[in-house]
Amino acid sequence: MDGKKLHVALLASPGMGHLIPILVLGNRLASHHHAKVTILVITTRSSAAETQVLKEKSKLVDILEIPPVDISSLVDTNTKITTQICIMVRESLPGIRSTLALMNPQPDLLIVDLFGTEVLPIATEFGIPKYVYITSNAWFTALTVYCPVLDKEIVGEYVDQKEPLKIPGCKPVRPEDVVDPMLDRSDQQYREYLRKGMEFGSGDGILMNTWEDLEPVTLKAMRENEALKAMVKAPVYPVGPLRREPEPDRFKSEIKEWLDIQPNESVLYVSFGSGGSLSAEQIIELAYGLEMSQQRFIWVVRPPPAKGASDASFFITGRFSDGTPDFLPEGFLSRTKEVGLVIPEWAQQVEILRHTSVGGFLSHCGWNSCLESITNGVPFIAWPLYAEQRTNATLLTEELGVAVRPKVLPTKKVVDREEIEEMVRKVMQYKEGKVMRKKIKQLKTSGDKALSKEGSSFNSMCNVLRDAKTKLKAPCSARII
Ligand code: UDP
Repeated sequence: MDGKKLHVALLASPGMGHLIPILVLGNRLASHHHAKVTILVITTRSSAAETQVLKEKSKLVDILEIPPVDISSLVDTNTKITTQICIMVRESLPGIRSTLALMNPQPDLLIVDLFGTEVLPIATEFGIPKYVYITSNAWFTALTVYCPVLDKEIVGEYVDQKEPLKIPGCKPVRPEDVVDPMLDRSDQQYREYLRKGMEFGSGDGILMNTWEDLEPVTLKAMRENEALKAMVKAPVYPVGPLRREPEPDRFKSEIKEWLDIQPNESVLYVSFGSGGSLSAEQIIELAYGLEMSQQRFIWVVRPPPAKGASDASFFITGRFSDGTPDFLPEGFLSRTKEVGLVIPEWAQQVEILRHTSVGGFLSHCGWNSCLESITNGVPFIAWPLYAEQRTNATLLTEELGVAVRPKVLPTKKVVDREEIEEMVRKVMQYKEGKVMRKKIKQLKTSGDKALSKEGSSFNSMCNVLRDAKTKLKAPCSARII
């Protein structure tokens, strides 16, 4: 090994939400830790965005595509997306094994994402160390590894509990905040989630996209609290905040030009992640709320899902005379044209959040969005929709003090325009916003420090690689299966 680059194989589960963080980790390992990186991608070949990302892959990493599998006979219309991903990974195991066997040079270690834990035994077959990379935070990881205990202790649905769910040494989780797979204990998705919780610690370590100063209490509990440690099982390595780098050259000029002429920290960016959408009624309230607040905004707008259709199926029936799409209030574009920019479907979020004119983010609280905002010092209006976004919103609001959120969960009740106006003003105009901005800038600084040379996350990554080297007992040539 000495003198040679460590060869790290990373496995990305199906979907952009898994591919992008693995690419980011791969680039980081190659650029800051001198590793040779090969990314194995379980492709779906169904998304144009995925094809584009694979085409534009970074020069720092190699990509190997695992042939797509047909799972149509194993799922039906009720099968949740997370269950489908688990099945896809399971069905891909032979393809992953043969791809790993054919790699030359062979990898020295394997890192899989959250959905890839069933691949860890293959690394054992190959005699290489293996790690799990949780692209989310430590609190989510603690809840997931501890869920098998909650499963034994708690009777009935978690959402119906009267008391918060206790995770030893950590902030308890409010029943209404539980992650989506915990919402229905009879669904296969819950059983898959429990399995993941058991498997996170079955490798040589758990990497997480967080850092020591962001979640000190949870990290301490994962390392020191006996009851939690028994479920974590492996060493934990906070390696974040890892997030996509902005690409200034590709920033669409009209958005950049508009932002360039707005005052510093005056624009609220509104977006619900890669797939989030709001009901027709909620979109109208949000539009009026933004308008009534009289604050500047950029809103990435998606039409509401068609009634009875899946989330992916949208309808646009037409536009009003000023060009306003008919799912927004009539005349909205004309009335807000001095202060607002409406972008259909998708925006260059990383570039927008980095612009100095942006001063707030109304976000669905996907963890990537959270980190992209924290690392730019932009406070939030937390508007969680699905997955682990409710706990993320609670972390931002109650632990870190960098967000305001609606009184009631937006998935339970429509948030009315007055409440939206108030939240926008709080973040953009009132003293609360100033306090939050100061706090989040401190977090930004601590995140930058964690990633810098000799910072906690930099060292944590070095420790993973050092640990892997010591575990690599056999020379590479002796490990061929
Ligand atoms: N994103 C983007 N433009 C958009 C919406 C989302 O670039 O209009 C990116 C965003 O920067 C982030 C990712 O998509 O990197 C969304 O990930 P996140 O974890 O926030 O939420 P998810 O989409 O997985 O729910």
